[in-house]
Amino acid sequence: MKIFIDGKYYDERNAKVSVFDHGLLYGDGIFEGIRAYHGRVFKIREHLDRLFYSAKAILLDIPMSPAQIALAVVETCRKNKIRDGYIRLIVTRGVGTLGLNPKTCKRPSVIIIADKIQLYPPGVYQRGLNIITVPTTRNLHSALNPAIKSLNYLNNILAKIEANNGGCEEAVMLNAEGFVAECTGDNLFIIKNGALLTPPLSAGALYGITRQTVMELAEEAGLKVSEPNLTRYDLFCADECFLTGTGAEIVPVVKIDGRVIGRGKPGPVTRQLEDDYHALTKVSGEPIYE
Ligand code: PMP
Repeated sequence: MKIFIDGKYYDERNAKVSVFDHGLLYGDGIFEGIRAYHGRVFKIREHLDRLFYSAKAILLDIPMSPAQIALAVVETCRKNKIRDGYIRLIVTRGVGTLGLNPKTCKRPSVIIIADKIQLYPPGVYQRGLNIITVPTTRNLHSALNPAIKSLNYLNNILAKIEANNGGCEEAVMLNAEGFVAECTGDNLFIIKNGALLTPPLSAGALYGITRQTVMELAEEAGLKVSEPNLTRYDLFCADECFLTGTGAEIVPVVKIDGRVIGRGKPGPVTRQLEDDYHALTKVSGEPIYE
């Protein structure tokens, strides 16, 4: 595997960052997880927009333009012969001293890894997930805004550990007010009376690119789409529930905190949106090999 670091390609075993990089020392950096489908990079513009917004929010000057990064992403896929895969794009604050002041970091580092994707096992998509609400709440946006896709994922990791300890793969994360925010690495949706609902971004969620795509697909399919505050009660009484994310795509949820959702099986609206999403991945994206 060839990995891009600051304009050069390295073999996997030589692809290294300094122990003084503040990405490692403090989680000071940002990232994107991007998919390639059928020889095309899916939603690259949206991912680059979000990367540059994250950078702006943390006052990080990315030393490449969006167009240069897009080219590097495509080239990294090509060098690794990726047609269907997962791309991890990382920008760290760069090498500095042991103190946390980012002023000591002279140049941010850009890293691109293009690899095969590790999905949930197929059974999860067939049967649906059993998830639980966990005690760790989502970060306050007045503290570390969940819209920033930063290299500090401890908030989500703690929630993931709590879900695992409870025998589940995913966690529902509430915000400090007790409204549903999102899951540890995915946004959350419910279907109620034929309408699609998802928490507002202000509830404390990543501005998910799959979330946005699914909302657009749902509107095209004639569904009413809204973003009200949701409580756990709303989840329990939903007809259907699913999660969205670049890696996971659309994952049905059939049980939450011991309550069976709908009929306890992935529902028809979820299935329709999964089909529509897969159809879109077949025809859109930035070509890697043309
Ligand atoms: N929420 C969190 C916390 C995430 O890390 C992610 C990305 N895995 C998502 C939601 C989904 O976002 P996207 O659809 O852009 O991948």
